[in-house]
Amino acid sequence: MQTVQNHSTVTLEITGMHCASCAAFVEDALSQTQGVKRAAVNLASEKATVEFLPTMVNVHALTAAVENSGYGARELKHDTNRAAQAEATEERKRNEYDALKRRFTLAAVLAAVIMPLSMTMLVPSVEHWIHQAIGMQALNGMLLVLTLPVLLVSGREFYVSAYNAFLHRMANMDTLIAVGTGAAFAYSVVATLFPALFEQNGIRAEVYYDTTATIIALILLGKMLEARAKGQTSAAIKKLMNLQAKTARILVNEQEREVSIDAVKRGDVVVVRPGERIPTDGEIIEGASSVDESMLTGESLPVEKNVGASVFGGTVNKTGAFRFCATNVGAETALAHIVRLVEEAQGSKAPIQRLADKISSVFVPTVVVISLLTFVVWFNVMPAETRLPFALVNFVAVLIIACPCALGLATPTAIMVGTGKGAERGILIRNAESLEKAHQIGVVVVDKTGTLTQGEPSVTDFVMLNDTMTREDALQYAASLEHYSEHPLASAIVDYAEAEKVDAVFTVHDFLAVEGKGATGMVSGENVAIGNTKLMEQQKIIMDSEATSAAVKLLAEAKTTMYVAVKGAIVAVIGVADTVRETSLEAVQELQKRGIEVVMLTGDNRQTAEAIAAQVGIKRVFADVLPHDKANAVKQLQSEGKIVAMVGDGINDAPALAQADVGIAIGAGTDIAMEAASITLMRSDLLSVVSAIELSRRTMTNIKQNLFFAFVYNVLGIPLAAGLLFPFTGWLLSPMIAAAAMAMSSVSVLTNALRLKAVKL
Ligand code: ADP
Ligand code: MG
Repeated sequence: MQTVQNHSTVTLEITGMHCASCAAFVEDALSQTQGVKRAAVNLASEKATVEFLPTMVNVHALTAAVENSGYGARELKHDTNRAAQAEATEERKRNEYDALKRRFTLAAVLAAVIMPLSMTMLVPSVEHWIHQAIGMQALNGMLLVLTLPVLLVSGREFYVSAYNAFLHRMANMDTLIAVGTGAAFAYSVVATLFPALFEQNGIRAEVYYDTTATIIALILLGKMLEARAKGQTSAAIKKLMNLQAKTARILVNEQEREVSIDAVKRGDVVVVRPGERIPTDGEIIEGASSVDESMLTGESLPVEKNVGASVFGGTVNKTGAFRFCATNVGAETALAHIVRLVEEAQGSKAPIQRLADKISSVFVPTVVVISLLTFVVWFNVMPAETRLPFALVNFVAVLIIACPCALGLATPTAIMVGTGKGAERGILIRNAESLEKAHQIGVVVVDKTGTLTQGEPSVTDFVMLNDTMTREDALQYAASLEHYSEHPLASAIVDYAEAEKVDAVFTVHDFLAVEGKGATGMVSGENVAIGNTKLMEQQKIIMDSEATSAAVKLLAEAKTTMYVAVKGAIVAVIGVADTVRETSLEAVQELQKRGIEVVMLTGDNRQTAEAIAAQVGIKRVFADVLPHDKANAVKQLQSEGKIVAMVGDGINDAPALAQADVGIAIGAGTDIAMEAASITLMRSDLLSVVSAIELSRRTMTNIKQNLFFAFVYNVLGIPLAAGLLFPFTGWLLSPMIAAAAMAMSSVSVLTNALRLKAVKL
C-alpha cells in the first residue's frame, strides 16, 4: 500500500474472473464501496488498482467487497517478499492452467467419442443397423451418459459463474455459454427420454450431445491458449522482479556473512565481487568498478563507479570489487519503485478501453435478445417437423458466436505488453492513459538545461570589469555565495573557483535564492548578488557599458552569462557553457519527421537560448521564462489546440510537467520519485522521448487491431448464426464452428498483442 497525501493506492490480485463482464462486475463492486475514489480492474493481469481514502475504508473492506461479488481478492504488498508473492501467483496460475488442461482433456476425449457415434445417424445403412441392434433410444442414452461428465466436470465453472451472475441479476459471458450449451443439452435429454413427445407432432427426436460436448471442449481449448499467452504478457515485469538478488554478503564484525536479502538493513556494509549482481541500493565506500545498469536504465554502456558513487540493486558489477553502504532496502529501492510503477501502469485502464467496456456491457443482453428473436422467428417460419431443432440450433449458434471474450482482452493485453516493453528500455509509463495520450502529441516542449544540453555547465570565462578588487577576491565572493545554492550554475562557479585554487571561505549570511534570476546574500559583510539581468534590475544595480559589452561577447558564443555585483556594482561577468548532447539534434529531427513541433522553454536569456536552438534545429523558443511561468507557457501552447508534452529534468519544471498533457521527466537515472510526470525516462537522452512516442503509437495501433479481431468474428458471425443468409444462400453457422471461431478470436487478439514485444525502440 502506498500513501500519497490523503488517499492511498492498493493493488489487489483478483481470482475467478473469466471475461470482461466479470472484470466490470468486480470494478463496480469496488467503485461502489464507500471511500473508494477510483477502481480499475484489469482482466489480463487479473489485478485491480484501487485508489481510496484510508479514513473511510481499509484494504480488508475492499477485499470483502470483491468476495461478496463472488470473486477472490488478495493485497499485493510491495516489500522484498514481492518476488515470493509473485512466485505464489505463478504457482496458483500454474495450478489453474493444469486444472484447465485436465478439464479440456476430459471434454476433448469424450467429444472424440461422442462425435463419431452421433455421425452414425448421417449414414442410413449404419443408422438402420443401430436401429436393429440396440435401438435409437439406447444409443442416445449412451451419448447422454458420455456427455454428462463434459457438462458437470469440464463445463461446471461456466454454469456456476452464470448462476452467480444470475443471483446478482447479471448476465456475463459465461451466461451465454451456459444457456447455449444448456439448451442444446436439455433439448437432447427430452428427446432421449421422451421421444414420443416429438414424434407425436411429426418432429424427428434429434439429439445435440455432440454440439454440447464440442462447444465446451473448444471453449476450454481457447481458454487454455489464452492463459498461456496471458502469462507471456507479464514477462517483462517478471524479468524485472527476477533482477532482485535473493541474498547479500554483508560485513558483520569484519567478517563477511551471507544473509537473506530481507535481513539487509540501511547502513549495512555490503561486499560485492566481480560479476555479481548488486543486492540493494547504496553508496560505494571502498573500491571501484564498472557497473552494467542497462537493466534499469536501458543504457547499454557500463558506468564507472568510484568511492562515493551510488549503486543500485539489480544492476550487475563487472570487473572490480567494492564495498558499499546500503541506503535504500526492501520496498525503497529503485528497482522496487520501478516494479511498482510498472505494475500500477499495467493495472490501469486506458480511455479507449472504456469504449470497449461500454460495448461489452450492452453486448450480452443484446445478444440474448437477438438469440431469442432468432428462435422465435425460425420457429414460426419453418415447417412443423423441423422448426424446433432448426430454431434451437440457430439460437445456440448466436449465443456462442456472440460471446465477447476477446473484447475484454483487446486493450489490457496490449497495454501490458507495451508498458513492459517500455520498462525494458528505461521508459516508465505511469498509466495506460498516459500511454494512450502520447500518440496524439502535437507539440513537444523541451527544457534547455539538462535536457537538450548535458546539464553540467562549466565556467569558461570570468571577465573582470574594473580594478576595484582583484580577480581572486571577486571569484571568492562569487564562490562563497554560490556554495549555498543548489543550482547547477552555482556548482559550476564553485568548481571553477576550486580549479583556480581559490577557496570559498568567506562567511555568508542571509543567503537567498531568487528563483529564475540568481542568488543574493551578505558575503564577508558585503552585499553580493550573482545572476542574470533580471536580478540586476531587481537589485537596482546599474548595468554599465563595460558590463554590457562583455556580456554581448559571451552571448554571441551561446554562453549563459551572469553578473557578479559586490556592494551594488558589477565587478565581473561570468560566461558558462553547457555542451549540447550528441543526440539532441537527431532527436529533434526524428520528432519533426513525425510531424511533431519541438519548442524550447528556458529560464536562460534569449540570445543563448536561440543559439542553442539553432544548433539542434528548434525554431520556436520561449526564453527568459521564470520557473513558475513555465506552466503558463505550456498552457499557452495547449490553447493553440494541440496535445502538448513537456520534457524536463523535473527540478524546477514540476508545475510545467503537471500542466502538460503528457509530462515527461528525463534523466531520472535511478531516482524515479517523479510524482508530476506521466512518463519517466531513465536515460538523459532526448531520443528516449522519440522511443516513448513511438511505443505509444505502436501500442495504440495494436489496440485498434485487437479491437478489430475481437469484433470481426462477432459482427460477421451473429447475422450468419441467426440464419439471416439462409433464405438466400442456405448458409448457417454450426454452433461448433461458432465455438471454434470464438476461441480463435481470443487467441488472435493475444497473439497480436504479443507482437508488440518485437517492436524496435
Ligand atoms: P533553466 O530554465 O535553464 O533550468 P533556471 O530557471 O533554473 O533555468 O534559471 C534561469 C536563470 O537564472 C539562469 O540562466 C541564470 O542566469 C539565473 N540563475 C538562477 N540561479 C542562479 C544561481 N544560483 N546563480 C547564478 N545565476 C542563477
Ligand atoms: Mg532547469
